[in-house]
Amino acid sequence: MSFSGKVKDELIGKMPPSRHCQLAELAGLFHSCGQIGVSAEGTVSVGFSTEKEPIVRKGFTLLKKTFNIVGEFNEKEASFMEFLTKIGNPEEPVNPLLIKNSCCQRAFLRGFFLGCGSVSDPAKTYHLEFVCPGEEPAAQVVALLKDFDIDAKTTERRKSVVVYVKEGESIVELFGVMEATGALMEMENARILKEVNNTVNRRVNCEMSNIRKIVGASSRQVEDIKYIRDNYGLEKLPESLRQMAAVRIENPESPLGELGELLDPPVGKSGVNHRLRRLGEMADRLRETGSI
Ligand SMILES: [Zn+2]
Repeated sequence: MSFSGKVKDELIGKMPPSRHCQLAELAGLFHSCGQIGVSAEGTVSVGFSTEKEPIVRKGFTLLKKTFNIVGEFNEKEASFMEFLTKIGNPEEPVNPLLIKNSCCQRAFLRGFFLGCGSVSDPAKTYHLEFVCPGEEPAAQVVALLKDFDIDAKTTERRKSVVVYVKEGESIVELFGVMEATGALMEMENARILKEVNNTVNRRVNCEMSNIRKIVGASSRQVEDIKYIRDNYGLEKLPESLRQMAAVRIENPESPLGELGELLDPPVGKSGVNHRLRRLGEMADRLRETGSI
């Protein structure tokens, strides 16, 4: 199952205990994917347009709990009139009175996410969005998120206005607001894993570039020493340089510190550096003038 599907399953399982929160969640669901249909005989039906069956079931459970209606009824029925007055037209922003309390705002966002939200797998990318039915509902959600310190942006896509959140931290925050604890934990784990991987990658890259530097310098040194050996003769060099040349050729990949320990008597890194540089200069001179 997709990460988005898992988050929704978790939210479907949450039923707010108080009526005010149930109304708010129903409003969130209805204003994101609700539908009202009237048949020729005057029968009105209320529905939820989503491909996830458990979301539709949750919508009907909320309708039953709050208005004691079961989806299809006569348009003149009192319960339907009450429903319409309270919850409002699905394409319009929700009545601010319904989302006055913080508990109700959370419930509303939960319903709204179930109706038109989705979130990417955090192992791949951080992206959560609500595909809103219009500009006003989108602005309302952005303002609501802002109250919870969550920065959301909007963009137009075909006939919808998309509200999206791209920061990993903000998505975690929003899961907390919607009380999706399982999703929050999974997202945090993915973020930690990503951070660790990035650090390891950076360290490996850094070490690789150091190794490349060492190998680059050493292959030049070995080349110089071989040039001297073949065109002049190592035995004619002073003892300290002759020894240095032999140790370098035998240990082409060792760092300078290690080379110094192989000399007799041992010398430090800067001593090794100095001798290798002298060998390099000799090779250059030999190439240019034919003698050292
Ligand atoms: Zn409430």
